[in-house]
Amino acid sequence: MHVPCNGINIGLDSSHGEINFLSHAHSDHTNGLRRLEQIISTNETIELAALKAKSTTHPSTKMIDAGHILGARQLVIEGDGVKTIYTGDFCTKPTIFGFKADLPQCDHLIMEATYGDPAYVMPPIEEVHDQIGKWLSSNPSSNLLFGCYELGKAQEVIKILNEFGVAPAVTEKTDRFCSVYEKYGLPLERVVVGSDEGEEVMSRPFAAIVPMSKAKRYFAARMAEAFQRKTLCAVVTGWALHYRFNTDNAFALSDHADFNDLVYFIEQSGAKKIDFFCGDGSKVLKAVKNEAILNS
Ligand SMILES: [Zn+2]
Repeated sequence: MHVPCNGINIGLDSSHGEINFLSHAHSDHTNGLRRLEQIISTNETIELAALKAKSTTHPSTKMIDAGHILGARQLVIEGDGVKTIYTGDFCTKPTIFGFKADLPQCDHLIMEATYGDPAYVMPPIEEVHDQIGKWLSSNPSSNLLFGCYELGKAQEVIKILNEFGVAPAVTEKTDRFCSVYEKYGLPLERVVVGSDEGEEVMSRPFAAIVPMSKAKRYFAARMAEAFQRKTLCAVVTGWALHYRFNTDNAFALSDHADFNDLVYFIEQSGAKKIDFFCGDGSKVLKAVKNEAILNS
């Protein structure tokens, strides 16, 4: 996707512009940007995505906070008399690291609508933290596996576990992402599976962060056999609000705007034109109380 501005095209999580913006480091957004020498992005995003590109700027654009994960930004594009905002993935409620999206005003909004259904209104983050704490304290002699995306969500879960005094075991891939968080001032206590420290921690009941694909009862059963210890598994994802997972528990923690956040984001933006690049925004638009949009 790209937008025209002052005679050039600006690529949005795409390499199809004369200059290109990468909103954040999740792999579904970095496609095509790996070969570029320069991109509009943060150093955090470039390091998390392990890109060769250098961070650049353009006088018609400005990056503003997107929440979501370390380094994530929205792009403000001003030119030809129009102010456009591209949100990338965003979250308006503060995460455990304090990341949260700015609420800009604009003429044209290009936004995600991952949770564009009224069924997706997330519980308060404190409630989910308490649920995780209770699961830890009620299973002191079991291994507990937390299935989540290895970039972003994993670091949030590690931080939550750290607040309960637990340093979880993580894969090398998750550990690499954690190292970038630490470089930018966000310490995360964890041990790496296969290291001496990891072996020591896993000789007793432990917590571990596993990829979503491993958060299944059959995998927990294999771990139970290997460690000769009861092993339970959970997923940590906003989709847990409605999808059933083959796990012992599920925590609805999301780093995306939920349905109400999407509606509010549009209302306060004052945008007259709205495009969605991810998910179906039709129910969000129906819920918006903004005459300018309703009449357009
Ligand atoms: Zn994302």
